[in-house]
Amino acid sequence: MSDASKPPVNEPVSEPDNSEAVQASADQSSIKSRKAAIRAWLLLSLLVVLVVLLSVRDDLRQGAIQSSEKAAHFVAFDMLGWSPRDIFVVRLRLAGLLDSPLGQRWIGAVEQAGDQPVHIGRQYLSTNNFASDEVEAHVYQVALERGEMLVWQLSRLDASGSRLYASLERRDSSGQEWSTVTALDADSAASSRVVTQPGDYRFVLQPELFAEMEYSLAMANGGSLPFPVEGAAQRDIGSGFGAPRDGGARVHHGVDIFAERGTPVTAVIDGRVRTGTSPRGGKHVWLTGGLLNFGSARFYFAHLDSIAVETGDRVKAGEVIGYVGNTGNAITTPPHLHFGIYSGGPIDPAPFLKPGPVLPEG
Ligand SMILES: [Zn+2]
Repeated sequence: MSDASKPPVNEPVSEPDNSEAVQASADQSSIKSRKAAIRAWLLLSLLVVLVVLLSVRDDLRQGAIQSSEKAAHFVAFDMLGWSPRDIFVVRLRLAGLLDSPLGQRWIGAVEQAGDQPVHIGRQYLSTNNFASDEVEAHVYQVALERGEMLVWQLSRLDASGSRLYASLERRDSSGQEWSTVTALDADSAASSRVVTQPGDYRFVLQPELFAEMEYSLAMANGGSLPFPVEGAAQRDIGSGFGAPRDGGARVHHGVDIFAERGTPVTAVIDGRVRTGTSPRGGKHVWLTGGLLNFGSARFYFAHLDSIAVETGDRVKAGEVIGYVGNTGNAITTPPHLHFGIYSGGPIDPAPFLKPGPVLPEG
């Protein structure tokens, strides 16, 4: 705690000196977005041609609609960022319905429901229905931090073939605009996503016009990593990320997890380890490995009493890599594990270490 935990002497090496990197990535992303815009316009022109063709050639229409639906879904959603609901909006427009009072009510339903969303907390189960004579949408919302995991399971409880437009959307805490993260399948399978960008997330469900249907949506959120100290939990975190160190000269780049000396410390992902000893971190282990959505994240375990692995070893998540102690500059504090996550820079490990999400039973 006293911490110790500052980043060990060798840690800063890993933190990028960012002015250049930021500039480069800004350039890159602007090139990327320009390319994406050009591609989008090309595809849009193609779609327009297709629509014109289909509307003048009646005989082409029927066969084309079915076979092109999957391809259109791919082009529209995966390349242009359009959700199936966006496509339905285009259809409403083509049908001349979009500007009708009904079309407007359908379009406005999401915004209306979004003004008073259901807040879902850590777990939520909704069994709900849409009536055919009402135009409405259902919205379930939750704020998530980087490193949390969101899981969901959407099932249709009716046998009608009507379409249900369901999507996961996100907005920055600062921004007002919602963007689609992914379309949801009502296939009763559990799906999950680790949050790389913090913000508000919401599930948006809306049936096509005049459709009657019933669904169940189970949702949960929690941490995305196993706890790195055997028998310990969130409550044992004694000093958080960003706490001042050295009289405010620097801040804590990890969390301190207090436990008895000798308590096993375990790997949080499958990966490769490097061990070392330094004045700040004492006996420590770095763990690296591919972590979905976190690319080259590196995990730092410091102040170990002893180390159970050797540099170059491959370990599995849950495998013991060392034991809790107070080596390094933690020598005057009670034994604890200093645990850090680095990806580009230090990241707060706390959201990663929340208890894992558990879907409520129906
Ligand atoms: Zn620490």
